[in-house]
Amino acid sequence: MARDAYLEKAGCDIRYNCPLTSTFGCTCVAEKAIFPRNFTAAVKAAKECEDALVLGGISNTLILNPPKEVICMRELKGIIEGGADLYVMSGESLNGAARWARMRALSGMEQLGGIPGTVGGALAGNSGCYGRQMSDITLYADVVKDGRVERIYAKDLNFSYRSCSVPGVILGVMLRLTPSDGDRIEENMRVWQAMRAATQPGRPSLGCTFKKCGEVSCAYYIEKAGYKGYAIQGAQVSEKHAGFIVNTGTATAANYYDLAEKVRTGVEKFCGITPEYEINIIK
Ligand SMILES: Cc1cc2nc3c(=O)[nH]c(=O)nc-3n(C[C@H](O)[C@H](O)[C@H](O)COP(=O)(O)OP(=O)(O)OC[C@H]3O[C@@H](n4cnc5c(N)ncnc54)[C@H](O)[C@@H]3O)c2cc1C
Repeated sequence: MARDAYLEKAGCDIRYNCPLTSTFGCTCVAEKAIFPRNFTAAVKAAKECEDALVLGGISNTLILNPPKEVICMRELKGIIEGGADLYVMSGESLNGAARWARMRALSGMEQLGGIPGTVGGALAGNSGCYGRQMSDITLYADVVKDGRVERIYAKDLNFSYRSCSVPGVILGVMLRLTPSDGDRIEENMRVWQAMRAATQPGRPSLGCTFKKCGEVSCAYYIEKAGYKGYAIQGAQVSEKHAGFIVNTGTATAANYYDLAEKVRTGVEKFCGITPEYEINIIK
């Protein structure tokens, strides 16, 4: 309890038996959830709770069994502007950062704006869409590693497709954008957003369940193996985009996982390729 009081004094909210709801719409309860509300509080939380699970917007994480302690970064918000560079706190929403960039006529985030979740979560998974990913605009990240704050430059983050080797808790990310025409940025954002709405399911999901298989969307193989529309309880392979598992109303995390495993092994059997999870699974 002394540690909790110390963290609260530093600027953390501590919530006990805290419900954590993902964008898939299912909720688990963490015994203790720590919400840092400023940079110093986040540093202290990361140092004090080294074994805690770190979460952003929970838009890409399936929690089957919550660990005792989680650090929820989504209240660590703020953007500091310096010319074409934006320093974004890790809990800021990716969409919020993209809107901010648009207001300043800074180009580089147009395709990323529609991706749910936080900037920290996006960096951790090198999120991207329509040919643009976080690695294209990241200069460096400030991270708590082995109890110390370290600045890690892009070349040392080992970015690859939907992957990045972040060695600790991300506090903030420096993004390098390009001055451009605000109206053109707005128009491009509108086009990407419309494409997203036209191709992705409207129901709750965690985004694409599996990574691309080479250059081919895993949705192609899932459909080929006959799983489009297949359901386990309230979890269903989307009829609109087979890469997504959606919640039709009452799905649990276990339903999602059972269905994802069924699809994974089915695609392996029928198509001879093994899909790799894009989502993070906490067992
Ligand atoms: C409808 C929908 C559409 C989507 N479309 C796309 C898309 O087009 N492209 C794409 O790439 N993704 C997409 N996603 C997936 C998801 O939105 C992104 O991966 C997003 O960037 C995850 O951010 P988050 O904050 O929700 O991360 P979370 O799910 O909370 O966490 C993801 C991972 O990052 C780690 N993490 C989070 N914050 C931190 C931190 N501060 N420090 C260290 N580690 C951290 C977590 O431990 C976890 O391993 C989509 C999801 C949905 C629901």
